[in-house]
Amino acid sequence: MKNIMFIAPPAAGKGTQADLIVSKYHIPHISTGDILRDIAMENNELGQYVKETLSNGELVKDEITDQLIEKRLAKDDCKNGFIIDGFPRNIEQAVRYDSILKKLKYDIGNVFLINIDKKLLEKRVLGRRVCEDCDAVYNLNSEDAAPQVDSICDECGGKLFQRNDDNLEAFENRYRLYLEKVTPIVEHYKKLGVLHEIDGNNPRDEVFKQINDIISKDGTK
Ligand code: AMP
Repeated sequence: MKNIMFIAPPAAGKGTQADLIVSKYHIPHISTGDILRDIAMENNELGQYVKETLSNGELVKDEITDQLIEKRLAKDDCKNGFIIDGFPRNIEQAVRYDSILKKLKYDIGNVFLINIDKKLLEKRVLGRRVCEDCDAVYNLNSEDAAPQVDSICDECGGKLFQRNDDNLEAFENRYRLYLEKVTPIVEHYKKLGVLHEIDGNNPRDEVFKQINDIISKDGTK
């Protein structure tokens, strides 16, 4: 299985697509946002810094993200393919990611760029709910992703919460940052011939079909 990378604006459904890939292909889903949200709960200086940075919708310092990515990718479960999500977020991170991959002797694999309208993203940001126990993601504003009961996880019965960066003000900040930074990253992967553009305005299963049509052709390494 080739490694998979997602490039997408906030709330474009990359977490949901990653979950669908994990269920089908059993490779780990490495989300820098998830790792950082765990760190933000730690009661120390780093936790406090990460918590404040996340709630402002700003980027966490490179030395922190680089280290956590390299440490995570070096683990055995990544040897047969993985999904990287939320990293790289700027061209500098992309260049450093190339050297991390080289060091670990991994290929870049397939890079999926999810294109989606801003109005739809705003609706999704406001409706997104996450399970505090198992991290399952739901959306109150989407028929195919809403939980059966608004505040309860279908999977484990845990309580659903709204991320504190899922408000319009933090979204505007994250979206503006995304647009500013994404073009050079996209060009970088286009040049390497690994970029696939996906229409994220479609329902979840149609988006997954577009992605799966590409990865199912890869076979296993
Ligand atoms: P996400 O779950 O991908 O939307 O990420 C949530 C937040 O985590 C972002 O708004 C950033 O504050 C932080 N974050 C995630 N990935 C990175 C990264 N690669 N570099 C810096 N900050 C990040």
